[in-house]
Amino acid sequence: MSGALPPRERVASFAVLGLSAFTTTRDAGTYGFTDTAPVGEVNERWLALLRSTGGRMASAHQVHGIKIVTHTPGWDGWLRVDSADGHLTAHHDTTLVVTIADCVPIFLGHPKGASALLHAGWRGTAGGILESGIRALANMGCHARDLVVHLGPAICGKCYEVGPDVYAQLMRRTIAAPATVDLRALLADQARIAGVKQVEISPHCTKCRNDRFFSHRAGDTGRQVAVIAPAA
Ligand SMILES: [Zn+2]
Repeated sequence: MSGALPPRERVASFAVLGLSAFTTTRDAGTYGFTDTAPVGEVNERWLALLRSTGGRMASAHQVHGIKIVTHTPGWDGWLRVDSADGHLTAHHDTTLVVTIADCVPIFLGHPKGASALLHAGWRGTAGGILESGIRALANMGCHARDLVVHLGPAICGKCYEVGPDVYAQLMRRTIAAPATVDLRALLADQARIAGVKQVEISPHCTKCRNDRFFSHRAGDTGRQVAVIAPAA
């Protein structure tokens, strides 16, 4: 590995799993190619992340779906998958990356060495991407009861207002006017129902702390990245 990691909010509980897990902050700059930021600068940030985390890195063109890609060894460089919102690896050998700016980065780690990183907005939360990730890990012998699940910086339950249609899909009851929902509280419930004992929720809201994080709802076009990498 070479080069320093970008300015970031760490997931302290993943260190004992041999993993470096974090979400970058506004100070790191944007990782979004949809931004008005120069493509060359954004690309260089990604390449610096690749160099500083071990030489094999996977990201995806995210589509608010529930597809999770399982990565296997045998390649080097930066793999950008088409149309996926989650990544999984059985060993500490691939750096997993999702881009976010209000949606929830879901970090999953297991003592056996498997890890997964998911991107969940309301569609992924309603569609069950977290249950899908927990099931995929269980299928490789990494049971839910031993998992650490961390829900990273994302829009909070006070800031995230949705219309009646989205509310009904998330809360399974109907309302007449827009109301707020807490995506991370819903995801934490899903994790516990699936059998996860250790569920953590970051105290940071991307919109309340728009000084520190990019927030789509606050008007930003920039994106931060959530990362699970082999520990240095
Ligand atoms: Zn907030």
